[in-house]
Amino acid sequence: MDIINERKLQVATAGANAPFKMECGKKSTAGSVSQRACVFCGSRVVLYPITDALHLIHGPVGCAAYTWDIRGSLSSGREIYRLSFTTDLHENEVVFGGEKKLYSALVELIDKHKPKAAFVYSTCIVGVIGDDVEAVCRKVSAEKGIDVLPVQSEGFNGTKKDGYKVACEAIAKLVGTDNNAVLPQYSVNILGDFNLAGELWMLTEYYKQMGVHINATITGDGRVDDIRKAHKADLNIVQCSGAMIHLAKIMKEKYGIPFMKVSYFGIEDMSDALYEVARFFKSAELMAKAQTLVKAELGRLLPALAEYKKDLEGKKACIYVGGAFKAISLVKALRLLGVKTAVVGSQTGNSDDYELLKELCDEGTIIVDDSNPNELSQFVKQTGSDIFIGGVKERPIAYKMGLGFCDHNHERKEALAGYEGMLNFAKEIYATAMSPVWQFTRKGHNNSIETQDIASHSRTQDIASHIKDA
Ligand code: SF4
Repeated sequence: MDIINERKLQVATAGANAPFKMECGKKSTAGSVSQRACVFCGSRVVLYPITDALHLIHGPVGCAAYTWDIRGSLSSGREIYRLSFTTDLHENEVVFGGEKKLYSALVELIDKHKPKAAFVYSTCIVGVIGDDVEAVCRKVSAEKGIDVLPVQSEGFNGTKKDGYKVACEAIAKLVGTDNNAVLPQYSVNILGDFNLAGELWMLTEYYKQMGVHINATITGDGRVDDIRKAHKADLNIVQCSGAMIHLAKIMKEKYGIPFMKVSYFGIEDMSDALYEVARFFKSAELMAKAQTLVKAELGRLLPALAEYKKDLEGKKACIYVGGAFKAISLVKALRLLGVKTAVVGSQTGNSDDYELLKELCDEGTIIVDDSNPNELSQFVKQTGSDIFIGGVKERPIAYKMGLGFCDHNHERKEALAGYEGMLNFAKEIYATAMSPVWQFTRKGHNNSIETQDIASHSRTQDIASHIKDA
């Protein structure tokens, strides 16, 4: 297999006898064309869903091109977060500095949109020209009376994971700024769910049914005022641990709030996420309610899943996602549908995550850290995968290789978490894996060109006859 020498220890194979040593958590290898996003992207993934805050990208317009508006995070209230703002730096600012432009942009936007707080993201060029973003934020904060928080997220300054970290540090500055709140019994904060397609609302409903009070959701459907009193909660429940674990650790150290890591993807992990909270509070009542809820959901779900499994049994999947915790849940969820994981990888996994994947996966499964399109294409070919589960950057790889794709990233508009989400996931995997179109693209590479020729020829004829009829 064609893998760059420097990356060879970032690819491993699961199996009792296979030597397993995974290198991870390091900067992407130059020339490898990593699928990983930059520091700035990592920070805005975490912060942007705070719906009533202003998010200003201090940098050239290109950094702001991929706006939050095309992502699936929903709000039940204000929608300032859906607007994408940038200081649109040009040659003039690169030479003479961008602080004046940043100051004017902040003042204008705060006056116009009246946000509860503002986040200012530094991009690569700001790191190069050396604007004092902190000083500008301090000045505007004093003038306007709201928190204006600098996010030191210069794209080149580490990996996407470093972006998560600076985002957590920015949120930590808000936590603890409202000391007057009194929260009810069994109060929790939910960290690391971004309310894609309204998933958070489903999850919070489960917890509410159990009798658990949700204080702050950080950051999906997030509110600045809720974050301010987040230090009053009894427990932080951390999903997508790669993104938010740093905040959970800060809050534990500063306020003594314990945290637990959960995943809401797949039946097993979703149910554990409820049971673990009941166990944490040592409440028989919460546990009984959780059991009733799980029983009802499974009674509804399992027969439906069994139907999909009949056709999906034996299919193979390639998983490549941002966080390894999600990858772990996906392996389990696919197994429930009879789908074998042939390849699994992540952009930001740590050695514990990869050890867990090794234990969980079947013998021979390829496990990869910080991969690239060339490697992923090879893995798909080598394993004969039928389905690719990934995000926006993996979609073209899957389609070019001629196999089914399931979007499991921030752009998706379909809820895939919780019990309802598991059913949606099964439907989506079924629809893409069983689509008749793949017979034209994947039925062996020998006849694919011939088949494509026939298909394109008949399409040309169709178009020609339409033109004639018209
Ligand atoms: S911050 Fe840097 S790496 Fe990130 S999008 Fe902007 S220019 Fe690209």
